[in-house]
Amino acid sequence: MNLVVVESPSKAKTINKYLGKNYVVRASKGHVVDLPKSKIGIDVENNFEPQYEVTNQKSLSELKKLFKTSDELILAVDLDREGEAIGWHIAQELKLIDKNGKSKGKKPLKRIVFNEISKSAIDEAMKSPRSIDLNLVNAQQARRLLDRIVGYKLSPLLWKKISFGLSAGRVQSVALRLIVEREEERNKFISEEYWSLEAFVSLKETSNISISYHLSKSEKEDIEKIEKSDSLIKFELSKIAGKKPDLKNQSEVEKIVDNVKNAEWKIYSLDKSISKRNPKSPFITSTLQQAAVNRLSFTAKRAMRAAQKLYEAGLITYMRTDSVHMSDSATISAKKYVEKEFGSKYLSDKSLQYKSSNKSAQEAHECIRPVDFAKTSSILKLDGDEKRIYDLIWQRAIASVMQPAQVENISLTVLIDKYEFKSTGTRVVFDGYLKVFPEKISENMIPELEKETLLFPNSIEGVQHFTQPPARYSEASLIKKLEELGIGRPSTYASIISVIQDRKYVVNENRYLIPTDTGSVVNKMLVKYFEPVVNYGFTAEMEENLDKISEGKLDWKKMLKDFYFPFEKEVIKQDKLIPRSEFTELGKSDKKCPVCGKAMIIKLGRYGKFLSCVDYPKCKGMLSIDGKSESDLAAEAKSPEFMAKYELSPKAEDGREYLLKKGKYGEFWAHPDYPKVKDARPLVLRREALIEIYGEIPKTKDGKEYVLRKGKYGEFWAHPNYPEEKDIIRIKKKPQPESN
Ligand SMILES: [Zn+2]
Repeated sequence: MNLVVVESPSKAKTINKYLGKNYVVRASKGHVVDLPKSKIGIDVENNFEPQYEVTNQKSLSELKKLFKTSDELILAVDLDREGEAIGWHIAQELKLIDKNGKSKGKKPLKRIVFNEISKSAIDEAMKSPRSIDLNLVNAQQARRLLDRIVGYKLSPLLWKKISFGLSAGRVQSVALRLIVEREEERNKFISEEYWSLEAFVSLKETSNISISYHLSKSEKEDIEKIEKSDSLIKFELSKIAGKKPDLKNQSEVEKIVDNVKNAEWKIYSLDKSISKRNPKSPFITSTLQQAAVNRLSFTAKRAMRAAQKLYEAGLITYMRTDSVHMSDSATISAKKYVEKEFGSKYLSDKSLQYKSSNKSAQEAHECIRPVDFAKTSSILKLDGDEKRIYDLIWQRAIASVMQPAQVENISLTVLIDKYEFKSTGTRVVFDGYLKVFPEKISENMIPELEKETLLFPNSIEGVQHFTQPPARYSEASLIKKLEELGIGRPSTYASIISVIQDRKYVVNENRYLIPTDTGSVVNKMLVKYFEPVVNYGFTAEMEENLDKISEGKLDWKKMLKDFYFPFEKEVIKQDKLIPRSEFTELGKSDKKCPVCGKAMIIKLGRYGKFLSCVDYPKCKGMLSIDGKSESDLAAEAKSPEFMAKYELSPKAEDGREYLLKKGKYGEFWAHPDYPKVKDARPLVLRREALIEIYGEIPKTKDGKEYVLRKGKYGEFWAHPNYPEEKDIIRIKKKPQPESN
């Protein structure tokens, strides 16, 4: 009998099917050996020797027992560095090798590697076993120890200087820095007014031109307008004397309107062109996560959980990879599928060359693709998250061997004096890969008109806009940014993002990542006193070093040494330099203590900033950050103005009313036992107040009222069934002056 070890029980089940009864396949259930929880676990004096201990005795005992009656040990753990390290620990515990990988047992040890769990891949792997790759193991050890050192040295400093219980991680702190810096950019951003000029023209002569000036509306309204009149073509002022218009205010627009409204409008030029849109490379870890966030509204973590299940069930290739390469046999079978289902005109006529962005892409050697293209999710009877992730992977891999889509672009111009107006239309003339992997191409048809054709403006509209601050990161755009910076690897993106949220440094609101007060303060301290550690270039360099270790080009202990000693010196130095109150007291307040009347200071608590009496701990007086005490807020909630504006407070199951609280993003209703009971709800505007602020509430086609929601760029009207029904109307309010 032979013992085969893998990480997870479901993977064990799949492999067992293919190996037959001479093999027993067992799961280690992850690492059986790890660094200790109670101490740093690195013997610095003794050349950075890790002090590993058994962390999963139950699994290990079972493996030991089975191994006694086995002829050999076959390690079929995952093919990345972490898998290699798990196998290496197990082989040591079963006394087959020493820590340098030297064989010392009497029974043979085989390491088999495969990219997918299929009969053919397992058979192939069994034919060519190798020994454990110590370079991969060492790269994993180096990452583990490096992260351990940073966490163990920096966290106590955060406790001492900011607040107990905080922790700092190496790559996570850099991700936090990106998010905080983006928020700072947004806070500094000053919105600027600009104007555009639109003309809706028809081929029929009109008796009068309506001229209006208004705030920008949704695209939907324009389309409705064009549909209603069934022959209007939308033109937009595109150039003034050959240059892009730069209109700052209404009076500048009015002057142009005066010049063009009674002029002769006729087609000056007609341009037609076909452009190609190429399919994207098949998925790697980072692009799969981004697509899952953008298309399915998943978190990166949720996407990886589903992908892992699919891999372990033998349905997709390994999901941690940064290689876009697709094997020859897989490419052939994908092409066969396309030819059979859609015909040869959909088949890419040249062999596609996709490039990996990471030059050392080698964690695994293939992209993420289905094991068998003929099996769609419905044939496999998949459902839930796994179906949705499988479909995405299947579509993108199939699309990668298909023809580009062809889009026809038509543009018409009208030239009046120095003013050029332009209308552009797009139309998909050949869908190509879009047939399988749909992407948004907004089609808008305009008629092909001959030069000199006369046009008649039906309405001319000056439209006011305001520039928008840079958008916050979503999980998808953060992963993209980390990848661009060379920070993070297929195995780390999802965990980086979930850790900063678990630690409450960042909240995910409407799919955008916003730093909390705590996150901002932690980042401020790290950037001010430990810039080299949270430096983007430095972190990318460390990742490259780990890659070098995995290729056997760098000694892992040397890398640790080079990092450790200067870092430790810095921690000791900065500990003395950081003033005790710099990050616990965040500034003075002009409010007086409600208890003793003394001054108050801004402090950081578990739930964000608050005001505390200077005499704390002698005086326990405190106020919320805007100076309202709990009783102020309770009184506000019962005031006639408040009750006229908002719906009544929600009630808990036991009938108690929710309490009005004030947080970083304004006032909200909190469960009477908040924060123990984590239930906070937004204030709901009364109908009358809603209409007063936003005007009439828009209605859907079947007469239902839209609902006011908050998103990335502020508030918008959403279909009552949003987000299933992706129907929204943007509200573009003028930026209001700050109301303090
Ligand atoms: Zn006081």
